[in-house]
Amino acid sequence: MNTGFDIAIIGGGVIGLALGRALLAAKLRVIIIDAGADIPAATNAAAGMLAPSFEMGQRTGEALYRFSAASLSLWPEFSREVEDAASLSMDYRDDGILGVALDEPQWQELRTRYSDLEGRGAKVEMLSGDEARGLEPALSSNIAGALFAPFDAQVDPRKLLLALRAAFLKSGGMFSSERVSHIKRARNIYVLSISSGAQIEADKIVIASGAATLSKLLVEIVCDLPPPPVRPVKGEAVALDMGDMQVRHVVRAPGAYICPKAGARMIIGATEIESHESLDVDPSAIAGLIRNGERAVSGIAKMREMERWAGLRPATPDGAPILGRYSDGPDDVFLALGHHRNGILLAPASAKALAAEITGNQAGQSPALTLKPFSPDRFQGAAER
Ligand SMILES: Cc1cc2nc3c(=O)[nH]c(=O)nc-3n(C[C@H](O)[C@H](O)[C@H](O)COP(=O)(O)OP(=O)(O)OC[C@H]3O[C@@H](n4cnc5c(N)ncnc54)[C@H](O)[C@@H]3O)c2cc1C
Repeated sequence: MNTGFDIAIIGGGVIGLALGRALLAAKLRVIIIDAGADIPAATNAAAGMLAPSFEMGQRTGEALYRFSAASLSLWPEFSREVEDAASLSMDYRDDGILGVALDEPQWQELRTRYSDLEGRGAKVEMLSGDEARGLEPALSSNIAGALFAPFDAQVDPRKLLLALRAAFLKSGGMFSSERVSHIKRARNIYVLSISSGAQIEADKIVIASGAATLSKLLVEIVCDLPPPPVRPVKGEAVALDMGDMQVRHVVRAPGAYICPKAGARMIIGATEIESHESLDVDPSAIAGLIRNGERAVSGIAKMREMERWAGLRPATPDGAPILGRYSDGPDDVFLALGHHRNGILLAPASAKALAAEITGNQAGQSPALTLKPFSPDRFQGAAER
């Protein structure tokens, strides 16, 4: 009998922490080992949009769309429970997201998205320029029209991370701020070597290490299978001080999105640079984001900059996360990787569905939360075996 933990989760970003909480609720002894000081979490770099209406395009498969819509619907309860447990706010706001058009082709693009969303049963509205400005007076007079998704939402990812960690600890979870450097299997348990030189034992492990290339090595070591195809997609963003200006909604404009947060902070994001591991920030990229933001909300170009940063999104070839275990791999090694542009949005659904899979308690699980489409097997040619 293992005297260590039931489960060790490698990675304490939004995915590892949300899953850790769900597993504690199932009365398991859980440790999260996180190298955040060394390998910055994408979660800290995110803008925090919960935006299935804009992120899930026509090419998004039905399963991912339904999973993301289900996750959005879990957010109100998820945020309330985490905030209550942590006694911390995460600035969750459910006042909708506006996608704006500045010209006719962009308006047509929004119309196409609108028809697609309506076809999927989403509640969305097309607004004229004046109607959009009525809803969000900060919008510039250039706005020709907008797609409004009243149920899309947002949260402050940094506050979310702090609240999730506090809630996890208060619910009895263990958190180790170390890097896992090696894992070996010994006498039916996993022995994880961490940077301090200590070892942690657990019956099961979950790899939730974001875009870190080490996750690939760990999977190879433990599963003796090819690594999951997770690649980093760099994103740069900037925070500005809104001062007295009132911007209430998230505004998605061509070439930039604008996310107002508590304390007059406004996040403008974000670039997308393939397979780039450096966290350097390109000044011309930030200038471009501000220029694009200014076209939608005049006054942005004059705001004082508070901070600029970059993060690495963990992306997969088909844009969907990797959740579950390899059918040809060990029974007790699970992956929670590849949430790409939508890890904040998907965290409640990924945590709930993967916790049900790990504990074997699928009772009452919504069909939208099935993990089959997100199995790691889809990249291993499992169907041929
Ligand atoms: C600029 C930008 C904007 C974004 N905006 C949004 C948005 O608006 N909405 C949205 O839903 N998503 C957004 N995202 C995407 C979102 O941030 C990610 O999908 C999500 O944070 C992934 O979470 P994660 O827990 O998988 O990974 P991470 O947050 O990267 O956490 C992984 C953790 O694993 C740790 N780790 C790695 N290797 C080891 C090891 N060997 N040992 C121990 N620990 C290890 C790391 O230190 C890290 O803390 C954005 C991302 C970026 C970069």
